[in-house]
Amino acid sequence: MAAIDSKRLCLLLLVAELACSGEVSFSSQPGADGGGPDAGGEQDQEPRQARVVGTGGVGLNLRDRPSTDGAVLALMPEGAIADILSGPDGDWYHLDYAGTEGYGFADYLVEIEEGEEPSGTGGVLNLLPWTAEVSYRVSRAHGNTGGHTGDSYWAWDFAMPVGTSVLAAHDGVVRKSRASGNQGCCSPSCGDYANYVVIDRGDGTESLYLHLSDALVSVGQHVTRGELIAKSGESGYACGAHLHFQMQKSPSGGGTSYQYNKSVEDFFHDTGEPVDWGPGDTPVSKNGVLDIP
Ligand SMILES: [Zn+2]
Repeated sequence: MAAIDSKRLCLLLLVAELACSGEVSFSSQPGADGGGPDAGGEQDQEPRQARVVGTGGVGLNLRDRPSTDGAVLALMPEGAIADILSGPDGDWYHLDYAGTEGYGFADYLVEIEEGEEPSGTGGVLNLLPWTAEVSYRVSRAHGNTGGHTGDSYWAWDFAMPVGTSVLAAHDGVVRKSRASGNQGCCSPSCGDYANYVVIDRGDGTESLYLHLSDALVSVGQHVTRGELIAKSGESGYACGAHLHFQMQKSPSGGGTSYQYNKSVEDFFHDTGEPVDWGPGDTPVSKNGVLDIP
């Protein structure tokens, strides 16, 4: 029979002591981390992360000490994600952002819920691509099975009637524009008939607007957020009228020259902070009203 080694015994005693002192609460989540109680003395704690929000696009400074007098080590952009080393202690989190250790002001950091999709970038912040004060239903959110998986993971479908005005979600330059497609059906065989607009954001990402009935911008044209770029439709592989929107890698960000590239994390900023809308939600656009950098 194997004897319990002293290191492990000490760990067990330590855990028991913490539990008795109320520092640790035990919930039964069998196998939640795949390790179980015999994980070999490794730290059982889930890594914590926080997202930079509410800076109005300005970003948040990472400082060398928990004070606004501390030297700035890095600028964490709006939407950026940092690992939490500890805190908040007072108004400050102790963070690791992209390998740099420092402190961030807690008012502009929101802890990421357990189970939320982890991210390297925090995503691209856009406004919903239609007229302000109008809402359309999310008919398929990102990560939904039946279409928005794999390279399309970060795609969104919005149920809107054919002919609805589609606005640019961000500033950029038109990389692709096609309005010659004249068919649509609920089958992959119609995929080649889709109309689309692709707008390069200039940061390695671009937006794709798919299933259009008309495209109103031409390649190379500079557009600003809120500008009318297209009319929605149901061209291509579409099971009913809707707008498929996704941010994706642009050619300069590792994407191909094709209109469809691997999607990248994106949220909509219309409420003033990034929101991950779910299926059935009816988000209200603030495009053209709210100004985010
Ligand atoms: Zn879609």
